[in-house]
Amino acid sequence: LPIVAIIGRPNVGKSTLFNRLVGKRLALVDDQPGVTRDRREGDANLLGLEFRVMDTAGYEEDEAATLPGRMRAQTEAAVRDADVSLFMIDARAGITPLDAEIARWLRSTDRPVVLMANKCEGKAGEAGIYEAMALGLGDPIPFSAEHGEGVVDLFEALLPHVERDAEEGVEPEDEESPDAPLKLAIVGRPNAGKSTLVNKLLGEDRMITGPEAGITRDSISIDWQWPDAEGNLRAVRLIDTAGMRKRAKIEEKLEKLSVMDAMRAVDFAEVVVLLLDATRGLEVQDLKIADRVLQEGRALVIALNKWDVAENASSLFNGVKGALDEGLAQVKGVPLLTVSAETGKGLDMLMQVAFETRDAWSRRVSTGQLNRWFERAIETNPPPAPGGKRIKPRYITQNKSRPPSFVLFGTRVDLLPVSYQRYLINGLRKEFDFGAVPVRLALRASK
Ligand code: GDP
Repeated sequence: LPIVAIIGRPNVGKSTLFNRLVGKRLALVDDQPGVTRDRREGDANLLGLEFRVMDTAGYEEDEAATLPGRMRAQTEAAVRDADVSLFMIDARAGITPLDAEIARWLRSTDRPVVLMANKCEGKAGEAGIYEAMALGLGDPIPFSAEHGEGVVDLFEALLPHVERDAEEGVEPEDEESPDAPLKLAIVGRPNAGKSTLVNKLLGEDRMITGPEAGITRDSISIDWQWPDAEGNLRAVRLIDTAGMRKRAKIEEKLEKLSVMDAMRAVDFAEVVVLLLDATRGLEVQDLKIADRVLQEGRALVIALNKWDVAENASSLFNGVKGALDEGLAQVKGVPLLTVSAETGKGLDMLMQVAFETRDAWSRRVSTGQLNRWFERAIETNPPPAPGGKRIKPRYITQNKSRPPSFVLFGTRVDLLPVSYQRYLINGLRKEFDFGAVPVRLALRASK
């Protein structure tokens, strides 16, 4: 990870910023009295930018006019090690001789520096901001570490220094590793063929199947491996919730319960396969389940089962496809596959698509890449100005994957019409290959 150092004289608010960037967890562990506070380090996440942050707080007792020796050594070492340093001043206190001395030294080095004027909430820091401009380190970022104001400006200032490593690929978390077991749930109405499918996939009679609705064991998760086209064994963790249906006696209850089953499974799953019975087509219940799965932010794959006995195959397929695209307005083009759980036809393709869908669902795009696309996107189709008010989008970052989630910053972006949000989401899908997994976009307006 790129390294960001926070430097400045005592009491300007370095630790508050550090805690804000790293989160409470580490602060609690390290903030005990007696613990050496020469340097604290932690992993930071600022609106999706990830970096390692070093806090050089300490020596608060040495409030002297000149930089005390140890603090100087500390600061110098931090600045040398860091990709960029955040030099913090207290805008309420104004520039002190010590600030000026640190600034002088910083100018003499070639290291990148971002000047931050802290304690700027309200208008309190205005005078200090002007004084800080005279330090010769560029315009300061008005900030409030205490209140979290100025975060977007800080993001903007750090971006060119910090994005480099993101391009090289952030280390994925364990969960996101492509080798982690694919958490798969198979849902669908009773008799769609879920148990038959599971048996076929596992290649053994692990579950009881029969023509009667609801004959299966209790919900259970099963680890197994699927040999892909290259002959690699891919780990899969499958959940079967079908067993829960056993308790229901009446047909309507079964219908209700299958939505609940589906939702239980969805909690656990990365990818949800919704199994349809080709001899019955798409029913309202199926659309309801599909919609809920997407709302929960899970990746969805739909399989038309019993294809071996389907009649009028092509018109059936097109009918289902059309009804899906119409019924699932939020995501178009959810993968629709034809399978036969009984004969095994189409199951390799199903598993392949399930893995690919998880890849898309877990994909992370670097902030640099994103914003290069973003600039083009808003140039090609500039945002509207509702009521004559100009909306100025500035930055976009991916703050989460699984499902891919983005935050858009800029002036009045909260006023962006849904149609324009959809334009951006579809653009993201195309550019970064998100396919038909749910993509989320949050809008954060800055003043
Ligand atoms: P579940 O309730 O969704 O678990 O459904 P089951 O797996 O118990 O299957 C219900 C019925 O459909 C059983 O009689 C299966 O033999 C039958 N079935 C399942 N898959 C297929 C298939 O691909 N083709 C055909 N022809 N029948 C199937």
